[in-house]
Amino acid sequence: MTLDFETLAKEYYDAAKAFLKELIAVPSVYDNSTVSEEHPYGISVSSALKLINEKAATLGLKTALFKNRVVEIRSGAKTDNLITVAAHVDVVPATKGWTFDPFTLTEKHDFFYGRGITDDKGPLVAALFALKLLQDHHLVNDYLVNLVIGGDEERGSSCLKYYYHELQKPYPKYGFTPDADFPLIYAEKGAIGFKLNLKTKRTPIAKIHGGQASNMVIDECHLEYKKPMGDYYDITYLKERKLKFTYEHNHIKIIGKPAHAMEPDKGINAGLYALELLALYDKKVAILVELVKDLNGRGLNLYRFGPHLKASTLALCLLKYEKNQLELWFDYRYPEGMSLSQFHNCINIALTKIKPKITVFKTHELLFFDLNSKLVTTLNQVYQTTFKDQSRTPLTSGGGTYAKESKNMVAFGPMFEDEDDHIHGNDERMKVTKFYQLISVYAKAIYELGQLDASQIQSE
Ligand SMILES: [Zn+2]
Repeated sequence: MTLDFETLAKEYYDAAKAFLKELIAVPSVYDNSTVSEEHPYGISVSSALKLINEKAATLGLKTALFKNRVVEIRSGAKTDNLITVAAHVDVVPATKGWTFDPFTLTEKHDFFYGRGITDDKGPLVAALFALKLLQDHHLVNDYLVNLVIGGDEERGSSCLKYYYHELQKPYPKYGFTPDADFPLIYAEKGAIGFKLNLKTKRTPIAKIHGGQASNMVIDECHLEYKKPMGDYYDITYLKERKLKFTYEHNHIKIIGKPAHAMEPDKGINAGLYALELLALYDKKVAILVELVKDLNGRGLNLYRFGPHLKASTLALCLLKYEKNQLELWFDYRYPEGMSLSQFHNCINIALTKIKPKITVFKTHELLFFDLNSKLVTTLNQVYQTTFKDQSRTPLTSGGGTYAKESKNMVAFGPMFEDEDDHIHGNDERMKVTKFYQLISVYAKAIYELGQLDASQIQSE
């Protein structure tokens, strides 16, 4: 029997769109001002998780909401042949400059617009209705599906950590997260977040601060001098470097260009230039700047190049300086051929002359699946047959998805590398036809993954 998932999906289009509209209307951005024990990510994220939990129950699916962190929606047999799909309901804040209301689903010129439509509410809703389709048509046999919806992906996936480590939920046999590109991401770089602390001499600079998050290139850096600028050489220095900056009285603002830490070459790091100014007054800082300014980590002996994941990257993401204490936060991403112990060796040797305090605050292991593995070949085939496209091949990425928090999981859609859906930017969007297509592609993917171990048992 060949199953025609595209035809089966059609009866769910209207209901899926209606729920998408409801979900986009909840501004589920992490909100520090309403965080409490009851609402670990703020009230709006809790509301969105609750809405999903209630909707899943209405659809006749087994569902549970855990501590306003994560919803688990289940269907299928009692078996350890588990397929997990992990998506997230939290969204990044609405940037300035939207044409439409970011929290109203708008349909225009064949696109849906709304914050989270692609990242990750559209795929989430599609996966929910994919599961409903499978259950309605009695297609979840000999396997079990957990659709896991988290509320804190954008800030580092504490929700999924809670799901696996605190709730001790089982890892799947196979799984995917609909939160990156098609056809799928078979390898993701490893990541190490580390801090350097260094005491400087007394300098004319009272304070420096720059950076917004530990995974973004510093787009603006503010320097406060102890005395009015007067004829400080610093201004001339910045002018000579042809940098964008403003200054008045005893304050300089250096203007760079934002970028994700996994692509530091796409931004201009204002923090590195602020460091150069500080280096004018302290020899150790001058040495340090030379070591950290290469965007691939060469200065710190951290440069690696892998056949799949290509070149390592290094980004300065946060800078604080006060009372002669300098603190720098870095995001380092590495391909094949690096490990945490190697990292420590390399960086210690590179920094022996100035000996800053080194603290690792975050590590994500590298993710790598063989291109011939069942998980990769199955999902790739589902992609090729549904989208009737053989031209795109499995991809690698510098970014971290839920796949890193789980096991046996890869990112599978919904974006195409060569199309811009404006995620995290203004007017985030998704093609209307694609949203509907996602229901069938995710239904088919879950179904096919569910058959893998069943067929293995039969053939053995
Ligand atoms: Zn996402």
